[in-house]
Amino acid sequence: MRCRAEPYRIKMVEPLPRTTEEERHACIVTAGYNTFLLPSNAVTIDLLTDSGTNAMSAQQWAGMMVGDEAYAGAVSFTHLEEAVRDVYGYRHIVPTHQGRGAEHILAKLLIKNGDVIPGNMYFTTTRLHQELAGGTFCDVIIPAAHVPTSTHPFKGDVDIAALRALIAECGPQRIPYLSIAATVNMAGGQPISLRNLREVRAVAQDHRIRVILDIARIAENAFFIQQREPGCAGKTVRAIVRELCDLSDGAAMSAKKDPCCNIGGFLALNDPLLYEEACRLVVIYEGLHTYGGMAGRYMEAVAIGIRESVDDDHIRARVEQVAYLGDQLRTTGIPLVLPVGGHGVYIDAKRFLPHIPHDAFPAQTLAAAVYVDSGIRTMERGIVSAGRNPATGDHYYPKLELVRIAIPRRVYTNAHMDAVAESVARVFAQREDLHGLQMIVEPKYLRFFQARFKPLSFTLPLSSETQTRATGHSSRTR
Ligand SMILES: *Cc1c(COP(=O)(O)O)cnc(C)c1O
Repeated sequence: MRCRAEPYRIKMVEPLPRTTEEERHACIVTAGYNTFLLPSNAVTIDLLTDSGTNAMSAQQWAGMMVGDEAYAGAVSFTHLEEAVRDVYGYRHIVPTHQGRGAEHILAKLLIKNGDVIPGNMYFTTTRLHQELAGGTFCDVIIPAAHVPTSTHPFKGDVDIAALRALIAECGPQRIPYLSIAATVNMAGGQPISLRNLREVRAVAQDHRIRVILDIARIAENAFFIQQREPGCAGKTVRAIVRELCDLSDGAAMSAKKDPCCNIGGFLALNDPLLYEEACRLVVIYEGLHTYGGMAGRYMEAVAIGIRESVDDDHIRARVEQVAYLGDQLRTTGIPLVLPVGGHGVYIDAKRFLPHIPHDAFPAQTLAAAVYVDSGIRTMERGIVSAGRNPATGDHYYPKLELVRIAIPRRVYTNAHMDAVAESVARVFAQREDLHGLQMIVEPKYLRFFQARFKPLSFTLPLSSETQTRATGHSSRTR
C-alpha cells in the first residue's frame, strides 16, 4: 500500500545518533541485552515505543506556553475537562501523571480482594494494578487474537460466550468492571469492533457490571472500525470514538499515545459518586484533583492533542505508515502478526526463531539482534513482558511471543521504515546464528523494564568478523 502524503510539514528536526557495530555490541552487553537499558544516544531509529515519543503539533507547543500553572482550579484543567467531554463524552475526569496513575486509582477504587476482572487480553501495567489491589485478571479475548496468522479484522473482540461463562462461574458480584482495551496493545495493536463492544455492554448491563475502557489508542481503533466494519465507512473517526465511549462507564487514558503528548493521563468517570471517591484518592497518590500529576502546560497540550487525535487525515496517515512498514517486512518474508495493527508492527518471534525455546526468550533475543545490526531499537512483547503468575510463580508463557516495532506519531518518515525493513531482513538471513538468552537479573514486578540477560552461548554474531571470533565464549559476554 502506498501512503498518501502526510497532512503536515516539519519545522524542527533532530539529528540521529550514529554508531558503529562495535559500539552497539558493547552497548547491548552493558544493557544486559535489554533494549530498555540502552542509552538513547546509542539508538539511531528509536521504535521502542509510541508512548510519549510523538511529535507534538505547533498548536500543542503554543499551548505549552500559555498553560496555567495554578495549584488549584487551573484554566488548563478546565480546557482538558472540556476536551474530554466534547470528544469522549465522559462527565468527570481526574488527571494523573500518566496512564498507570489512572489504573492505580481505578483499581484502588473498585477492586476488592478476590475479585475477578475480565478483559480483552492483559496489558502489563493494567493487570499489575489489578493484581496489587487483590484482583485476578481473566482474559476473555477471542481465540483468534492469540493466533498471529489469523487475519480476523477485529482481533480485539471479546469472546462473548467466554465472558458469559466467566460471569456465571464466579458471579457478577465478584466482577467490579470489565477492562476493555481499544486497541489491544499486547495482541498487536488490534481493534475491537463497535458491534462487539455493544454486545459486551449488553452482557454487562444484564449483570450490572461496569465497563471501563482503556482509550490510549481509541482513535486508531475507530479508524479501523471506519475502514473495516460494515455500515461504518461513512462515519468520522470522531463520531466512532464517541460511540465507543458511550458504551462505557469510564476510561483510563495514557495521553502519551493518541494525544501525542510526552506525559500525562487521566481517569474518566460518569458516576458522580465514584468521581468523588476518585478525588479523595488522587490527592494521596498524584496531586490535587485539578492537576493530578500534570503541570498546567501539559494539561493544555493534552487538551489540544485530544481534539487533534480524532482528525481523519491525521489518523489515516498514522495508521497507514504502520501498514507501510508491515508491507515492506512482509515482502521480505518476515513472519508478522496479521493484520498489521494501529501503532506498530509485531514480528512473530516464534516463527522467526523456531529453534530457540520459549524460556530462552526468542523475542528478547531478536530485539537485541536488530539493535546490534542497525541501531534500531524495538521491544520484547512476549514471555519477559508477561511476567510470572503470582499464585504459582511460573512464567505466564503467553501464546504470543513478539517483537514490537512501535512507531511514534509524526516522528519518522517512510525512508526510516525502509531502513527498519532492511535491518530485520538482514537479521532474518542470519537467524540460525542466534541462540537465545538467559535471565540473570529478574525484577519482581514489570520485569521487562529492568531485567538483564546474558547469551546462552555466544550469540548475536552479526558481522563476519565477530562470527569468526565467536568460538566458545565471546568477549562480548563479559
Ligand atoms: C501505555 C499504556 C498504558 C499505561 O500508560 P502509561 O502512560 O505508560 O502509564 C495502559 N494501557 C495501554 C494499552 C497502554 O498502551
